[in-house]
Amino acid sequence: MVRCSANVPPVMTKCKTRFIFVTGGVVSSLGKGIAAASLAALFEARGLTVTMQKLDPYLNVDPGTMSPFQHGEVFVTDDGAETDLDLGHYERFTHATMSKRSNFTSGRIYESVIRRERRGDYLGATVQVIPHVTNAIKEAILSLRTDAADIALVEIGGTVGDIESQPFLEAIRQLRFELGRKSTAFMHLTLVPYIASAGEIKTKPTQHSVQKLREIGIQPDVLLCRTERDIPQSQKDKIALFCNVAREAVIEAPDVDTIYGVPLSLRGGRLGSILLEHFGLPDNEPDISSWEDICHRIRNAKYELHIAMVGKYIGLADAYKSVNEALFHGGMSNNVKICIDYIDAEFLESEGTDCLRNVHGILVPGGFGERGTEGKIAAIRFARENKIPYLGICLGMQMAVVEFARHVAAIEGATSSEFDSESEHPVIALMTEWETEGERVQRSINDDMGGTMRLGGYPCRLTENTTTHTAYGKDEIRERHRHRYEFNNTYRERLQAAGLVVAGELPDGSLVEIIEVRDHPWFVACQFHPEFLSRPYAPHPLFAGFVAAAKQCSGA
Ligand code: GLN
Repeated sequence: MVRCSANVPPVMTKCKTRFIFVTGGVVSSLGKGIAAASLAALFEARGLTVTMQKLDPYLNVDPGTMSPFQHGEVFVTDDGAETDLDLGHYERFTHATMSKRSNFTSGRIYESVIRRERRGDYLGATVQVIPHVTNAIKEAILSLRTDAADIALVEIGGTVGDIESQPFLEAIRQLRFELGRKSTAFMHLTLVPYIASAGEIKTKPTQHSVQKLREIGIQPDVLLCRTERDIPQSQKDKIALFCNVAREAVIEAPDVDTIYGVPLSLRGGRLGSILLEHFGLPDNEPDISSWEDICHRIRNAKYELHIAMVGKYIGLADAYKSVNEALFHGGMSNNVKICIDYIDAEFLESEGTDCLRNVHGILVPGGFGERGTEGKIAAIRFARENKIPYLGICLGMQMAVVEFARHVAAIEGATSSEFDSESEHPVIALMTEWETEGERVQRSINDDMGGTMRLGGYPCRLTENTTTHTAYGKDEIRERHRHRYEFNNTYRERLQAAGLVVAGELPDGSLVEIIEVRDHPWFVACQFHPEFLSRPYAPHPLFAGFVAAAKQCSGA
């Protein structure tokens, strides 16, 4: 396989990125993102390089402003983009690193078109969905060529037939025309439901969904049929004939007990082989041993651990998607099954912390706003005083600092200025609220951090002889951030004198990134989001360490 060199413009090299466009039909929530990511994993298992992209039809410029209740978690890339949670699946299933190029919404596309129109770039032309918006979409897709991957998988959000996704579908239709059949493939994910009263599976929704695609000029090359039951060959033949798709390219995607079983399940259907044949690429035997190992660990965990997740968005499991997955990865590395007990922080405020008595570990994840924070502080105090392993993430770290300040360092009324801008003791605050001008000038990091979010990857230097240093086994790490408020350095000495351990800081020492408490089996809280870097094949050290401590404390 010819590889591109990153600093050679793609058009000048022999390397050619093949595009697979993934659409969905019939209903949403069929697991398009996981199917695409699993297919990418199977290509990687053959030694190919992959990159991925999600195109979202909604009008928000990015999901950063959307409520986690609406849209699930916001996934943050190393280069600081706030993106769709599907990018989390892409990174967890592959070794590819997502970037600002990996997620475009209609809002972001329209914003760029309107900005160009205002600048006069269109030279007086009437600016229209076709060709101006579709051209901008094509540009966004083709920008993936800079990743120099062998295969780029592009997932179109939404369901075929929606008004919103039409410009995206038109753009990929045009790309097929322009790049040719050997460089593009259309994969369509549909539902083949089982109708219990008739005792039959039904192919009609799939036929209609493919008809919709063909109306706009897209003929799928592969159909991935989500199903609860086996699809008999006769029904697959029927789908093939009526949808104009090769018989072997009608592939069953049955429900599996774990999402990490999907790559192995798709391999059985020869999905990767069929697409490689389509592209005229050699199809070598994939090395699926790491996926087999992952599934073996998940299916053979003997012991159950209960981890309490104390948050605000507990009504929707997707709101903490990456945290959930990172906990499961920590379980895999310790051969235990993780059961997450979601606990509404406000419930703790009214009912007390009794419900935490039987859990093996407590985790407070990231969050915004004051609601439920006193409940989180109560949970953290409970973990600290009862020596229950604790992992605090972002707001979970900030609240651990507040808890320590109030109850150990006796700083009465300590809080975050996010909740009380007039507070006498803002132990967590905006940098502009506590920094001196001289410090600000000396600081080598981004200057716009004061009032806006600190987003994306930052280095962090770890302190020797700390739980964190042992967990990572190295001196410097890089982790992803998404927050406005910081540990207030004005209180650093006072809190350290009371026993708080600073286990990690920005390499220039200007910001506290990780804290621990002493004389506790495992109490680590970090300002960044370690969950974004956890992989099933490489569980994150903090999650692996936290689960190991929970396992040990449980006596397992
Ligand atoms: N609300 C806090 C801040 O903005 C924490 C954010 C988070 O947990 N991601 O600093």
